[in-house]
Amino acid sequence: MAHKRMAEFEDYLRMESVSTENRQIPETVAYVKGLIERTGGEVQVLDDLGGNPVIYGYFKASPQGNSERTLLFYNHYDVQPSDPLEEWRTEPFEPTVVDGVLYARGVSDNKANFMARLNALSLLNESGGLSCNVKFLLEGEEEIGSPNLGKYIEKYADLFKADACIWEAGSKDKYENYVVSAGMKGIAYFDLEVDTANIDIHSSMAAIIDNPAWRLIHALESMKNSKNEIVVDGFYDGIPPLSDKDKAAAAAQPFDAKQVAEQYGLTGKFITEGTAVSPTEALAFYPTMTVCGFSSGYTGPGIKTVLPRSAKAKLDCRLVPGQSPENVHESLRRHLDAHGYEDVRLTMIAAEGAQRTSVEDPFIEMVVQTAQAVYGDKNPVVVSPSMAGTGPSELFEKYLKLPIAGVGAGWAHSGAHAPNENVRLNDYYENIAHMVHLMEVFGR
Ligand SMILES: [Zn+2]
Repeated sequence: MAHKRMAEFEDYLRMESVSTENRQIPETVAYVKGLIERTGGEVQVLDDLGGNPVIYGYFKASPQGNSERTLLFYNHYDVQPSDPLEEWRTEPFEPTVVDGVLYARGVSDNKANFMARLNALSLLNESGGLSCNVKFLLEGEEEIGSPNLGKYIEKYADLFKADACIWEAGSKDKYENYVVSAGMKGIAYFDLEVDTANIDIHSSMAAIIDNPAWRLIHALESMKNSKNEIVVDGFYDGIPPLSDKDKAAAAAQPFDAKQVAEQYGLTGKFITEGTAVSPTEALAFYPTMTVCGFSSGYTGPGIKTVLPRSAKAKLDCRLVPGQSPENVHESLRRHLDAHGYEDVRLTMIAAEGAQRTSVEDPFIEMVVQTAQAVYGDKNPVVVSPSMAGTGPSELFEKYLKLPIAGVGAGWAHSGAHAPNENVRLNDYYENIAHMVHLMEVFGR
């Protein structure tokens, strides 16, 4: 394990950079700064706008390279908490290799990807230098929703200016395809609450007093019909129609309906059945509205008759480009008011915009071609128009105006955010090779 800078990789994994617990952030920033400097890059630690520091790294094209082309890598140095600790088979912050698999908190999300990129730079430096300029943006608040990143990217847009961006994450899927993702959905997350009294009441009074649970159920029911169509005026506004290429990209996604049904033990059919939209189109290109939770009154064992005083629901909307969390928030408020639910309080508690680079963008094609050259027939390369997760890529598009592609060293069982997070070392080595080839081609 002396090669591929494994000792440094392991030390980086030992940093307990849990942003939500504020653990070892200054130490991790110092360590990352050292890693970039030891690779031959310049570093600036930006911390003038609040939150955990944003790290800027810069590597100049060699004299033979193309100084007109700049590739930006986005990574984050923070990780998720490690609990539930009892479910880990190894120590979360003591990197451990078992049968070629490296276990540690944060290894797949996303410390391995950062180390793969640094390794690629080391290899290029040893073999004649860089064919393009390379920049890094590392933040330390990705796992808590990047609350301060927008301010930094806006203020330092010139510093981070680049021609294209490689996103922090990516993986092979469960069919061992190497996935290039071209975007991500956004999210708007809401609390809904309604009160009809200031104390719980004997349920005999339901003959004359309204029930907040029914009220909230009716309010929710008015927003999405039994055909699963969202019927809130303005909700779909701004969403561009799908191009033929988008449809082709969705059709090319692997999707095994039977396997997915088995995986979750589904009791019904997919809600796309009998509609004009395929499951892979819906996953990539359509927004959602999901009741994540609902609570009111008594839900324990046995009987307690009660007319509850209040009801609460949690609702998330996964958004697509063209929508904005603010517009969705406004359209839901207008809808509730127009349908007689002025008393239902609606609070948006999380918001991130969606971003998608066209699957026809030359940068996406270049990432695909360089991946094909490295992975060959063993791991067919597939483009995912929009990955399942949400992240701050909309900020990059807004302030830096560049195409973005996500690739990385993960696999289907990397278990990001879960116990026993891991990457297979072979995937890591292959990802280094892909990053080397990508940077070579990008400067041409
Ligand atoms: Zn994460």
